[in-house]
Amino acid sequence: MTSRVLASVVAGARYAGSAEQPDLNPSDPTDVVAVASMGDLDTAVAAVDAAATAFPGWAATTPWQRAEVLDRAGSEVLARADELGDLLAREEGKTLAEARGEVVRAGQILKYFAGVALQPHGQAVDSVRAGVEITVTREPLGVVTVITPWNFPIAIPAWKIAPALAFGNTVVFKPAELVPASAWELVDILNRAGLPPGVLNLVLGRGSQVGSALTGHPSVAAVTFTGSVETGRRILEALAGRSTKVQLELGGKNPLVVTDKADLGVAVECLVQGGFGSTGQRCTASSVLVATDGIHDALVAGIRSRLAGWRVGDARANGIDMGPVVDASQLEQDERYLAIAAAEGADVIGGRRLGDAGHFLEPALALGATVDSTISREEVFGPVVSVVRVADYEEAVAAANASTMNLSAGICTTNLAEAAHFRRASKAGMVMVNLPTAGVDFHVPFGGRGESSHGPREQGTAAVEFFTTSKTSYLAAGRP
Ligand code: ADP
Repeated sequence: MTSRVLASVVAGARYAGSAEQPDLNPSDPTDVVAVASMGDLDTAVAAVDAAATAFPGWAATTPWQRAEVLDRAGSEVLARADELGDLLAREEGKTLAEARGEVVRAGQILKYFAGVALQPHGQAVDSVRAGVEITVTREPLGVVTVITPWNFPIAIPAWKIAPALAFGNTVVFKPAELVPASAWELVDILNRAGLPPGVLNLVLGRGSQVGSALTGHPSVAAVTFTGSVETGRRILEALAGRSTKVQLELGGKNPLVVTDKADLGVAVECLVQGGFGSTGQRCTASSVLVATDGIHDALVAGIRSRLAGWRVGDARANGIDMGPVVDASQLEQDERYLAIAAAEGADVIGGRRLGDAGHFLEPALALGATVDSTISREEVFGPVVSVVRVADYEEAVAAANASTMNLSAGICTTNLAEAAHFRRASKAGMVMVNLPTAGVDFHVPFGGRGESSHGPREQGTAAVEFFTTSKTSYLAAGRP
């Protein structure tokens, strides 16, 4: 069977690249989901130019026109949730239920930002001078470059593209190389929903080839990026000294604290969902379990017994709890970290390769790790959790705050004082009480502290900060 060849989209038209790259199913790498025609420098420049040309027209549309496009696109995404979820599970490897959930989330985000487009974002203020009126208004930035990772192939693009468009910006979107098909569908849906040509452009290509043109082109006003700390830093360094607005969402090393006062069942479920959901490939994954002495053994036993019935397999098979790791190199990285954990003295439970075709890995616990262990400090991005035993609640807070990538942090406790104290004491950008560290809402700010984030928060009411610039106007009206 010949595969569908997906190409970049520039000014509303297909824009073929210079080389082809297969998009492989991580559950069965002999299954070619699609073939991506990979763009290069020429594609990147053409896409930015198209977005710059389209900007004045799109910026002049009314909020209602922009809301209608986003709402229509959101409706199509929701109506096609089963089909798009199947594509996402096939391309990225999360289970069908997780993939469908992500698609629904993308639809909700599009509809949410349709509403945001219609909300008032300005202010009228009395001047301190008589006869002078002040307005503070929000204006679009211009061309926004959107660069996204592979782990949420449709939701992350939606939560960057939707606010960019809602506030009147035009977009150049570069998805991760591993997931071109989900990205292509989102762009196709938005363009058919009524975007004028050039308002949303898609560049399929390698970050190393197209990245610098997409971020450094003089017409690019802003760059919003989600991905690794290394690439984020590289973008920031490349743009140093420029006035380009930059928003980075990078790694997370997210602790889940479980105290002696936790409900054991709740804690087991929080860790299993937060640590191993989406194969642990979430920047908000609970990758460090911090357990106080009195509950540690019962908690580990509970998690092990829950994982004993855990089914790892083809992402699209019935009754599966966890799909494959995204590709061979990520699988090697997961195994490398498990080997380091063992070499540093941890007792590694699980973590064997499963099956012989797909990139399957058994969920793994690194027992007896400390906060200083490599596996507790560096982002693995797999179904791997390090388990740190601490004496008491105070030590648990210190261990949780030892992270340098403070995206999300959780605590399981039934004690109100511990819950309230942890919410204040945590250094993370998001705090969860009796919930997994992963799993957030779309109408509130998302982001971390430390090495995890740079620039204004994403999503919800915070999106206006990054995707617009404010203007303060003074008017002396005079006497009638
Ligand atoms: P991940 O580990 O999630 O793949 P990366 O940071 O490698 O994280 O990739 C995230 C996104 O950044 C991808 O779309 C990738 O193509 C892109 N990217 C990689 N290198 C660069 C670069 N130098 N400039 C801009 N984008 C890049």
